[in-house]
Amino acid sequence: MTVKTRFAPSPTGYLHVGGARTALYSWLYAKNQGGEFVLRIEDTDLERNSQEAVDAILEGMQWMGLEWNEGPYFQSKRFDRYNEMVDKLLAEDKAYKCYASKELLDEIRAEQEAAKEMPRYDANHPKIVAANEAAKDGDPCVVRFRNPKEGSVVFEDQIRGRIEIGNDQLDDLIIRRTDGSPTYNFVVVVDDWDMGITHVVRGEDHINNTPRQINIYEALGAPVPTFAHCAMILGDDGAKLSKRHGAVSVMQYRDEGYLPNALNNYLVRLGWSHGDQEIFSQEEMINLFSLDAISKSASAFNTDKLLWLNNHYIKTSEPEYVAEHLQWHLGEQGINKDNGPAITEVIKLVGERCNTLVELAQQSRYFYEDFSEFEAGAAKKHLRGVAKGPLELALSKVEALSEWTTENLHNVIKEVCEELEIGMGKIGMPLRVAVTGGGQSPSVDAVMQLIGKERVVARIKMALEFIAEREANAQ
Ligand code: GLU
Repeated sequence: MTVKTRFAPSPTGYLHVGGARTALYSWLYAKNQGGEFVLRIEDTDLERNSQEAVDAILEGMQWMGLEWNEGPYFQSKRFDRYNEMVDKLLAEDKAYKCYASKELLDEIRAEQEAAKEMPRYDANHPKIVAANEAAKDGDPCVVRFRNPKEGSVVFEDQIRGRIEIGNDQLDDLIIRRTDGSPTYNFVVVVDDWDMGITHVVRGEDHINNTPRQINIYEALGAPVPTFAHCAMILGDDGAKLSKRHGAVSVMQYRDEGYLPNALNNYLVRLGWSHGDQEIFSQEEMINLFSLDAISKSASAFNTDKLLWLNNHYIKTSEPEYVAEHLQWHLGEQGINKDNGPAITEVIKLVGERCNTLVELAQQSRYFYEDFSEFEAGAAKKHLRGVAKGPLELALSKVEALSEWTTENLHNVIKEVCEELEIGMGKIGMPLRVAVTGGGQSPSVDAVMQLIGKERVVARIKMALEFIAEREANAQ
């Protein structure tokens, strides 16, 4: 049997972290089993669904690299099929029409509450029986599923273990509303059956629906899939993760400069473990993933750990991979990547200093753009009269270089120190401020090499002018 899993979001908003983790687990399990992964958009609630939300979900899935083998299917396009199955159950007397009005049901509920009974729908309630006898064909009605009255529903949840619910806890569920539209618990069963889903991995908020759904599978004569219900994700304050905790949309993590591999690695560990291993390549995740190693208890989101992982991935990933994602941020920050060195070279030099691609883009700017001012604090401290001699000497040596290598630039700095009998800091810092505009950068010889000769010469000259002006003003 080929394993087939699915992700079935309702398009009511963006792809949030909880949904993304469910999608990842479902995808990983399919990959681990050499199976297939289906994407299904559950868009039956026409009032709450939107095309923007569908697009946001697809964009989030694509950004995470969770490719689907089938779909996206849209429930809104399958109403004929759902109706066909409702009619089948009606014909087999496994479902029935109920004409009781909403007002009548409210009245019965109020009576049950007053009598301290559990409020529930009871097809044998005299008032409901009377309403149904009085009804004529064509009157507005719902279709209800005839839930078994005896016994119980038992299933073996792959995460939570054995679950048993007595059928006396389950009332006859509406499967088609008065307006003719089918309901969630029914369509999800028809879909999972039609799509050949063998394993349903979803959030634990659906665990109460599962016994009802199992009864419907059985009534339809459909095989019952295996279920795995994932626990919730909490914010770092222990409350259910929500917008209040900041970035909860997957695309917001892209905007904030995370690599998809880092987010995936973070999400896989948020509720799943393999010993105490923290770093998983995609291949390792796929090979090691299993449903029974998913935690039963809720997990708390920890942004510091995500940042740490992101830094790890920026440092250790192939520069080409980082470049693919950094490009977008350079564009966002208005940096023209064609106006300087290859991005991969900048990544190799600056990457390890950065926790996010936003920082990496910011720290890449001086490789691609000239600046007209130095950072005030750095200039005040390092572009002073004492730096004039060292910078002039460095300028003449730099101009004379025939081969523009990091090693030659390193030697320039060394020679300036020796000839002027000064320490490294007396030329290193002024040079750094001159060529980068600020006081922080990786090793200045390597930085100059990447910036290129023409720009380095022009920038040292600009720094010398700045010093001259400063001295003139001081007199
Ligand atoms: N559409 C449901 C949701 O977004 C998921 C249904 C399911 O996975 O069975 O919560």
